Amino acid sequence: MFAPTFLNVELSQLWEQLEKWYRIDEKISVENLLNQYASIENCHEIATKNAQSIIHQLRQGKLNPLRIESLLRTYRLSTQEGLALMCMAEALLRIPDSSTKSRLIRDKLNLGHWKNADETTWVEKLANFSLSQISKFLSIGSSHSALSYIPGLVRRFGEPLIRQIMGKIIHVMGNQFVVAETIEAAYSKKEKTLYSFDMLGEAAKTRDDAKRYFEAYLNAIENLNGQPGDITEKSSISIKLSALHPRYELLKRDQVKPELCEILLKLCQAAKAAEIMLTVDAEESERLELSLEIIHDVFIHDSLKGWGGFGLAVQAYQKRAHVVIDWLIAMANATGEKLHIRLVKGAYWDSEIKWCQERGLSDYPVFTQKAHTDLSYLVCAEKILNASPLIYGQFATHNAYTAAFILEMAEQKSTTYFELQRLYGMGELLYKSIPSRCRIYGPVGIYKDLLAYLVRRLLENGANSSFVHQIHDEQTSIEMLVKSVKAQCNVTQGNAHPNIKLPIDMYGLYRRNSKGPDLSSYKFLKHTQKLLNSYSLEEYPALLRQDQLERFLSRADQAQNSWEKMGIEKRANIIEKLGDLLDDHRDELTQLLCFEAQKTISDCIAEIREAIDFCYYYAQQARTLMDSPVQFPSPTGELNAMSYHSRGVFVCIAPWNFPLAIFLGQAIAALVTGNAVLVKPSHQTPRIGFFAVKLAYKAGIPKDIFQFIHCKGADVSANLLVDDRVKGVVFTGSIDTAIDINRTLANRKGPIIPFIAETGGMNAMIVDSSALHEQVVTDVISSAFQSAGQRCSALRILFVQEEVADSLLCMLSNAMKELDINDSWNFSTDVGPLIDSASKEALENHVLYLKELEKTDQARNIYTCQAPKAGNFFGPALWEIKNIQLLKEENFGPIVHVVRFKANDLEKVFMQINETRYGLTMGIHSRLESTIAMAERLAKVGNLYINRNMIGAVVGVQPFGGEGLSGTGPKAGGPNYLLRFVHERAFTQNITACGGNTILLSTI
Ligand SMILES: Cc1cc2nc3c(=O)[nH]c(=O)nc-3n(C[C@H](O)[C@H](O)[C@H](O)COP(=O)(O)OP(=O)(O)OC[C@H]3O[C@@H](n4cnc5c(N)ncnc54)[C@H](O)[C@@H]3O)c2cc1C
Repeated sequence: MFAPTFLNVELSQLWEQLEKWYRIDEKISVENLLNQYASIENCHEIATKNAQSIIHQLRQGKLNPLRIESLLRTYRLSTQEGLALMCMAEALLRIPDSSTKSRLIRDKLNLGHWKNADETTWVEKLANFSLSQISKFLSIGSSHSALSYIPGLVRRFGEPLIRQIMGKIIHVMGNQFVVAETIEAAYSKKEKTLYSFDMLGEAAKTRDDAKRYFEAYLNAIENLNGQPGDITEKSSISIKLSALHPRYELLKRDQVKPELCEILLKLCQAAKAAEIMLTVDAEESERLELSLEIIHDVFIHDSLKGWGGFGLAVQAYQKRAHVVIDWLIAMANATGEKLHIRLVKGAYWDSEIKWCQERGLSDYPVFTQKAHTDLSYLVCAEKILNASPLIYGQFATHNAYTAAFILEMAEQKSTTYFELQRLYGMGELLYKSIPSRCRIYGPVGIYKDLLAYLVRRLLENGANSSFVHQIHDEQTSIEMLVKSVKAQCNVTQGNAHPNIKLPIDMYGLYRRNSKGPDLSSYKFLKHTQKLLNSYSLEEYPALLRQDQLERFLSRADQAQNSWEKMGIEKRANIIEKLGDLLDDHRDELTQLLCFEAQKTISDCIAEIREAIDFCYYYAQQARTLMDSPVQFPSPTGELNAMSYHSRGVFVCIAPWNFPLAIFLGQAIAALVTGNAVLVKPSHQTPRIGFFAVKLAYKAGIPKDIFQFIHCKGADVSANLLVDDRVKGVVFTGSIDTAIDINRTLANRKGPIIPFIAETGGMNAMIVDSSALHEQVVTDVISSAFQSAGQRCSALRILFVQEEVADSLLCMLSNAMKELDINDSWNFSTDVGPLIDSASKEALENHVLYLKELEKTDQARNIYTCQAPKAGNFFGPALWEIKNIQLLKEENFGPIVHVVRFKANDLEKVFMQINETRYGLTMGIHSRLESTIAMAERLAKVGNLYINRNMIGAVVGVQPFGGEGLSGTGPKAGGPNYLLRFVHERAFTQNITACGGNTILLSTI
């Protein structure tokens, strides 16, 4: 499956190299690039001279006050004001209702100290800010003189006018980057300028979106037909593959590749007919290989022979960029067809770093030092120029030095077969000073579709390391701006940036991060697929009779003392060793999780990582807690301290939905603090638990200390929990069982023992009208349907502000149509089966209840996905209900209940959620600080997630656990968890008792 075939052997060999260089050590990569740079180093001197003169001119040019650069100079992105502006630009214009609009403006303006604003109210601040901007606007003398009435109007008309003014400012900001709303209007504006038009909007969420983008591209291509001249002298089109398919993801390769090839081919055929160039934009690094496969298949298609207009963007910030260029040149060579390459540095740098850290990957796919990206850019540029005229180079940059270097290289190679490129709204002055052909990347579309693009441009203009930012920063000397990449690399020594730690070292010296296998690596996917094709379920111990249980308890009880005496350091080392063994045995664990617990491949990875994190985190926590007693400030002559001691034998009762992570998490906490553990797996997942326990023995945990008791739940209660030798119980499961256990423990006559229970939740997400639909849809789908909704943190009730409910639900249900409900071992599966038929029956009964409500208009099915009939599949469903009170309990599966709310009723929504008495997770999607503050104040939940999904808590980062009916606490993976597993013993000694206060006497 993940073994693509290419036109010739050279391409296949280079393909292997792509994997090698993908996440290579930065130093190795830089060394290699420096070797290649040696042949072009001589361009530096002239490039410097030319760049210096350009920069000098640029610095003398006057900035237009309403331009982003100017605004970001006054309000830097690193300040609250800069962030507030960016947030307002991202959200204001999509909000349909005036009350939310006003709240957003008020929130954001109250956050900052706007320059020259002595006023105290937000209205005054706004008026000052907006009017100062508008008056600057007026002072540049334009047809906007009508705006001179504004000061008086603001006073008279208040908020509505303020909204309009603010909207106007944001529009002006956004419009800087958009050529026009339609391709027709854009084309008529173009005059003699060369453009590559881009239809705004990216990452289609639904088929409808993808179809709309396809038609927009096609229409644009048709509009560009009939231009005179050579193909390189005509305006062209740029497209994004993510806009053309709602599931453009590597795990869906088998479905996506043929579909996208067909769509791209149609666009290319249209571009060929119109005799223009078409360029595929570069997006996230994890999609690069899939995009190259698609590009290869389309590029070699017979119908495109002789066109010479196909091309793509390549990001130099990727460590493998130079191999990508080699591969592309080899591809063009193999066919003799012309190809153009737009070389960019790359627009997703900050996101690439974040994704990589979140996933615990071995290294970054991008450089972490700006100088290394610059070096890579120049080396790649040389390769492109050398391959002219088969390859037509398009060098996209706003950096005067980079541009001057390219020009000098081209001069030395005596080639003019290339062009430079800039973005619409940026780099105008730079390109006025450069004697070369320049094409403008020109976004076309309506404001609503601009947002993601606008945020990238704001970041680019505001980032400290960015040339366009530094050019207006007088503190950055011209010498700095033209410093040679070699000199810069001498300083960095090729090392990664010291402030950007590798994902594995993210937690510093405190603890190791768990490694995450790379789901974007073909090699890994091929390996995993083989694993999943060749698995047979392992054996596990037979169910114990209840009369056998006492023996286990007695052994544990007798052995516990020796385990405690072993001391914290040794125990912690053993637990860390267990973490390492889990890492070594990923393959078997993946097979077990996938086949026994029905987990999809990404869920398997996440669960194994969580189990490893528990090992590393609790080991380190236990060291801190138990290493030495805590000493307290005391009166002179007295020593006061407290130390922690194990309690004895714990019974841990694990759930089936996290049969490895929670199973081990509970047990490790007890073990590392010196307790013995009897662990009962869920009856649905005994194999996984048994395998984990065997690994624990291998790590060095004695067999009597950690015992696997595969038995019925009722037998645990009747035979173990009633026994005084059990000193603590940990349970994850339903609230009803937790109440039963609590009752059993309460009936014991002996000492009262700790009972830690994690139970379910009726988890809600609240979405107001400032939220971004695309982001909400992604987060709802993962929160509600990932793991087939069988997580206690999963989303059950979605509250949506009424003004945006229809449009959001339409996008959500269309996105649900793309969900693949299938066996968990298929890579493309989004929603696997439920754990058993009983779970399915419970959900079906709930749907019957909803259907009853439907008859009285209290409920409405918005959409239900089709699911395979055989097996325990259950189609994810979206039901609108009149109010939350109609739900009486948690429904453990992929059903989302939607409730609409009015903006003014937000507080009531929190109250209603609290009234369920569950309190596990909650999600908020809002750009309003005041809403987020309200949630923090009112939401009685253990885990509150803002503007993201609400599942997947990370050990030691998002301590997890609820309150009320959702659990007893303390939070798993949090700093207080281990305290429940220990006794606290205080120690007070009168030091003067044996001969006087020597310390006091010697200190005076
Ligand atoms: C015509 C055109 C088309 C474009 N198309 C695409 C596209 O398809 N895909 C895409 O991703 N981008 C695209 N871009 C955006 C482009 O990536 C940025 O505009 C570009 O990176 C800015 O580089 P520069 O040379 O102008 O500025 P510089 O200021 O010299 O470089 C800034 C760039 O350096 C890199 N960088 C910053 N900090 C670091 C660091 N610490 N470590 C490593 N690298 C760092 C980043 O890539 C950043 O964008 C396009 C740009 C243009 C002009």
